[in-house]
Amino acid sequence: MTGKPLTILGIETSCDETAASVVRGCAPGPGEILSNIVFSQTEAHAPYGGVVPEIASRAHLEILDGVIEQALAEANITLAALDGIAATAGPGLVGGVMVGLTTAKALALASGKPLIAVNHLMGHALTARLTHGVDYPFLLLLVSGGHCQLLGVGGTDDFRLYGSTIDDAVGEAFDKTAKILGLPYPGGPEVEQAAKAGNAKAYALPRPLVTGHNARKSADFSFSGLKTALRQLVENEAVSIPDASASFQAAVIDILTDRTAIAMQRFRTDFPDGNTLVVAGGVAANQAIGAALGRLCAAEGFVLRVPPPRLCTDNAAMIAWAGVERMASGAGDALDISPRARWPLSN
Ligand code: AMP
Ligand code: MG
Repeated sequence: MTGKPLTILGIETSCDETAASVVRGCAPGPGEILSNIVFSQTEAHAPYGGVVPEIASRAHLEILDGVIEQALAEANITLAALDGIAATAGPGLVGGVMVGLTTAKALALASGKPLIAVNHLMGHALTARLTHGVDYPFLLLLVSGGHCQLLGVGGTDDFRLYGSTIDDAVGEAFDKTAKILGLPYPGGPEVEQAAKAGNAKAYALPRPLVTGHNARKSADFSFSGLKTALRQLVENEAVSIPDASASFQAAVIDILTDRTAIAMQRFRTDFPDGNTLVVAGGVAANQAIGAALGRLCAAEGFVLRVPPPRLCTDNAAMIAWAGVERMASGAGDALDISPRARWPLSN
């Protein structure tokens, strides 16, 4: 590690996790996670089969102060001993982002510490530096409940978008598939579990943009046609849940590996010395997807880095770490910065 280690409090409230964490470290990592408190609101949203924004922002408001207190206590640190306070400023459900960002502003004002407004996607993107000290540049496959993107990452302000979803995010496709099959929310882990006992060739499901009438040699993703095909299948015949889960997951794997292989070519042109693929976001917890990406990396001469599941799903350690990296590069934000529902990483 180079430079002086920074100790940062991170706050994450952009979706349905209320989280606070204290991280110490300096670029390129790995960093030290002194505390990592995540309060998941999954139960509150489960009856609706998805995240309800109003329920989420109220829940953040009710528990965030306690979550922050717990993060500071577990790290055995006071506000006065921090170097800065980082919070997700977007993209996400704006009501929730507002709760976290406003709290961070109040703490920054009261303690006289700098505020660092963090892009949630940058948090996911840089997690492999926190956990593995991965050097720039790397290719990032971000697969979560709200996002599905392939990006070349050359530094904290160098993100090159190679592909993104033109409809649903991949985690959303897992959740909707689970709902169609009558499995509980969140659906990703349920579908993965059911797929283990199923035959992936039982049902012929489409691979939109990869094969068929709308095939495109790009790194963009599409999942809505896959979901629709599954719904029609369920409406027309009595399906086996394990077979349908396995067939769906096999289609997702084909889509993800095909698009990642295309992005690898573009990444090599942009960064001839780079050979690391980082996978981040909640869907990175899927072991069948991880194994398929491992085979792709072996064939393409890439090294695969996947942070542990608790740092792949939404958390505040990744926000604190992005704060470490941005503060080390001289960044700080004014207290009147606004939350952003949309905030793309690349321009
Ligand atoms: P995040 O948006 O990063 O908090 O991740 C949550 C999303 O990841 C949800 O859509 C979950 O269904 C999905 N997910 C979590 N675990 C798995 C898994 N094992 N397989 C597929 N998707 C998953
Ligand atoms: Mg989440």
